[in-house]
Amino acid sequence: MSVRVRFAPSPTGYLHIGGLRTALYNFLFARHHGGTFVLRIEDTDKTRYVEGSVENIIEMLHWCGLDYDEGPGKGGPYGPYVQSERTEIYRRYAQELLDKGAAYIAFDTPEELERMRQRQQQAGIVPKYDRTTMRNQFTLGEEETQRLLAEGVPYVIRLKVPLTGVIKFSDIVRGEISVPARDVDDQILLKSDGFPTYHLANVVDDHLMHITHVIRGEEWLPSMPKHVLLYEAFGWEKPQFAHLPLLLNPDRSKLSKRHGHVAVEDFKKEGYFPEALINFVALLGWNPTGEREIYSLQELIELFDLKKVNKAGAIFDIQKLRWINAHYLRHKDPKELARQLQQYVQEGNLGDFSLEYLEKVVILLRERVDLLPEILTFGDYLFHPPTHFEQEYFARAWSDDIEALIPELLALLRQIEPWEHMVIWEQLKGFAKQQGTKIGKVMNALRLMLTGKSVGAGMTETMEVLGKEETLRRIEQFVTQHLPALRQQVAENASE
Ligand code: GLU
Repeated sequence: MSVRVRFAPSPTGYLHIGGLRTALYNFLFARHHGGTFVLRIEDTDKTRYVEGSVENIIEMLHWCGLDYDEGPGKGGPYGPYVQSERTEIYRRYAQELLDKGAAYIAFDTPEELERMRQRQQQAGIVPKYDRTTMRNQFTLGEEETQRLLAEGVPYVIRLKVPLTGVIKFSDIVRGEISVPARDVDDQILLKSDGFPTYHLANVVDDHLMHITHVIRGEEWLPSMPKHVLLYEAFGWEKPQFAHLPLLLNPDRSKLSKRHGHVAVEDFKKEGYFPEALINFVALLGWNPTGEREIYSLQELIELFDLKKVNKAGAIFDIQKLRWINAHYLRHKDPKELARQLQQYVQEGNLGDFSLEYLEKVVILLRERVDLLPEILTFGDYLFHPPTHFEQEYFARAWSDDIEALIPELLALLRQIEPWEHMVIWEQLKGFAKQQGTKIGKVMNALRLMLTGKSVGAGMTETMEVLGKEETLRRIEQFVTQHLPALRQQVAENASE
């Protein structure tokens, strides 16, 4: 039987990083086995629906390269793939459960249920639907039930969970699990608005869509006993299950927004590469070799093994994501990076720069940042002349001796041909020697005048990228405009 898996998000907002991990593991499993990856939208809870989230989920999956084979917009033999378009089907199956005596009708109002909960809490028992005292098919009898139905009194359909015994199932990640039936609630399957709950729709669809493996987050493990009962009641063969470990913050609390980004689109906006995000997310709960950290999607597909997924929660370490992203930044085609950088430059209204120039900028700075757009802040002086000069660096890098050399330095730079960093370096070295000063001093002064900052890429490489004209212009500008202002600042600080 060929493998069929599904990613079944509820459109309640953005695609969460945990959702991406679920989607990725399903995708890897499907591709590894030459199977089918289905996208199903579980939107039967109308109160939690967020406009635009289906589009966002699809767009983010596509951005990450996780294209599905069947699903919304793509179609497939078992559609529709949006649950709100399948409500008729769920009603039919809920009726089948009623007919089989595996489910029952209940009329309790929200107030009655609330009173039940309070009674149970006061008695110190875990709140759970009490079939024997509430208003349902069993307590009211068949005739009264039919009369209320005919009158149009709102009702729900509940799962009839056995009162004794244990419910057993097996999970690929967690092994054999058994749960006492008395701990399982008589779950609502069909709500009074005629919509199914997650449990009914999920099981019915996994069956009708011929899903062979259910791979999802651990938060769904507690639903398993109900799902097992549903499969048994319908007389359907169960798929295999694999519940993926929780994602945790570094302090081992459940991954949450408070600790930083959790939406895939935010990582995209910040400038992470999809390859890096996928590589990182793949390692949240699994490591193919236990040695390497860098894997392409193709390698992940080849190596993927559900049986090797960890039980223990996986810590979301943003530093590791940055490190992985930096790796991709260093290895990607600089031409492609220049094109991407151009977009950030345009979004930031930083001016017009040719792709040739941006490619040089990328090559100059990509070893020094983790994210491509960080080049814009780290190397801001490559996009406009510096207007701010680090005071402490000024105090260190500037002196009367250096100032006295500026006219000759300008004359020297002006005649350098070709304007290449090795040539510039040789010339500056000769200059320093001839002037009886240290090359380091000359370099520091140049760094100050050209960038305003104490840290950056190699100085002569930076000068090559800036070009001769711009280099000369900045030195002149520094001496005529910025130097007097900096001097004044130093004087003011000293008098304070
Ligand atoms: N709709 C559920 C969710 O949003 C799907 C859980 C499952 O995969 O069964 O996570």
